[in-house]
Amino acid sequence: MAEQTRPPIVTILGHVDHGKTTLLDFIRKSSVATKEHGGITQHIGAYQVSHSGKLITFIDTPGHAAFEKMRSRGAKVADMAVLVVAIDDGIMPQTVEAIKHIQEAKVPLIVAVNKIDLAGTDKNVQLAKIKKQLSDKQVNLEEYGGDVPVLPISAKTGEGVDKLLEMILLVAEMHETKGDPALPSAGVIIESSLDKFKGPIATILVRNGTLKKGDQITVGGVNSKVRGMFDFSGKPVDSGGPSTPVEVLGLETVPVVGAVLGELAEVKEAEVVQSLVERLKQGDTKTLKVIIKADKQGSLEAIQTSLEKFNTERKIVDYIFTGTGDIGEENIKLAASVGAIVIGFNVKVAPTAQKLAENEHVLIRTYNIIYELLEDVEEVVKTLVEVGQLEEVLGKANIIAEFPHGKSEKIAGCRMTEGIIAKGQKIRVVREGQNIGETRLKSLKKVKEEVNKVEKGNDCGMLFDPPIDFAIGDTVESFRVI
Ligand code: GDP
Repeated sequence: MAEQTRPPIVTILGHVDHGKTTLLDFIRKSSVATKEHGGITQHIGAYQVSHSGKLITFIDTPGHAAFEKMRSRGAKVADMAVLVVAIDDGIMPQTVEAIKHIQEAKVPLIVAVNKIDLAGTDKNVQLAKIKKQLSDKQVNLEEYGGDVPVLPISAKTGEGVDKLLEMILLVAEMHETKGDPALPSAGVIIESSLDKFKGPIATILVRNGTLKKGDQITVGGVNSKVRGMFDFSGKPVDSGGPSTPVEVLGLETVPVVGAVLGELAEVKEAEVVQSLVERLKQGDTKTLKVIIKADKQGSLEAIQTSLEKFNTERKIVDYIFTGTGDIGEENIKLAASVGAIVIGFNVKVAPTAQKLAENEHVLIRTYNIIYELLEDVEEVVKTLVEVGQLEEVLGKANIIAEFPHGKSEKIAGCRMTEGIIAKGQKIRVVREGQNIGETRLKSLKKVKEEVNKVEKGNDCGMLFDPPIDFAIGDTVESFRVI
């Protein structure tokens, strides 16, 4: 099959309370793709509507805690952005940020001036004011010879929404959004969670190719099999083609939002990652040491919260220092002394710091989109795993009892909670997150019988050699350096 037109993927951005959610709701209710979906609550963070017989995919990015991240991601994943500006408010700080993201993502933009039902007789005056504000922010409006249309709408009454949908289709046609359903799937994780019963769940927005039930996929370096697929309304489906959002079951781990699968993963700054890996290989580090500088405390917290995803199993990202303000010489000195990388978010690098970094071979990376920062870190973590700089935990057990053995030794009575622990593996004992010592298994007993391995769910007795001063409540982990 050759390339063919695929539905445009659209994200709606704008300042809080300017009507993004209302607009998404109105569109969903009035033109959702198939009749049977009418009235069904949307299940996942994206949906498709049909307008004039053509499909449009909307990514749902209403304001919530991870708003900034979602918005950055949305602008990147989407083929075009609709910027919602409330007529009574005009351009606000988040509107400006959204414009920045859209310009950086280089996606076509349509401006929807919302809440026109509120505007009285001075509607045109307010519209003109907003247009002027947009022009000041380097938005090239159509009426001034650029390519950005401005459409007045009311998400509440629906006025102008039809025209907006038509405009989306027109812009899509001009930019020729195309895909080839015959290709293996390439897409982006737009949501992920761990369901108590179903395990890891992710919403994948297929950008190209077709994702099918039973497919083997690799996301963030982890291979999984697609065991179940659902469309945006929760209906089971067997496949999803270009521009289709699908919910997927069967993943081995919960993927990071923004992670890519398929060929999109290759669109990477391989060079940067390579140099970073080289640098890390020089040390015997088993963690990625980072120094983070951000413009404000809020950004710092958002970045750290997002990076914590890498630390769920064990500590991979190690924060050496975090703070606000530009990257200075002292940050580079610290990075050089401990073998850390320096990550900047919305900050500048002082020229002296830049020079020092070059001399000391310290890697500095600056970002202004959290999503890209995470994507790079994810790539580094993945590569570190591939080149053997990280360990893999193979099994875990809780020490629930202790029994004296011989003159001075003691046996740990354990309950296996994860994976497998076997003789010959490297073993460590962990207390409150701290490694209190590494050892090997001298003896491993299930009831009274000596065994070579124990699996999750079983109780066993472990005798360590060399002995280790464990305590009840500690965790035994078996691991290997990958
Ligand atoms: P969001 O934060 O951008 O998602 O904004 P919401 O969609 O939650 O809208 C914020 C408020 O504006 C809500 O009270 C909406 O009912 C109201 N609103 C949204 N669109 C319109 C509109 O076109 N006209 C009027 N009058 N109110 C609107």
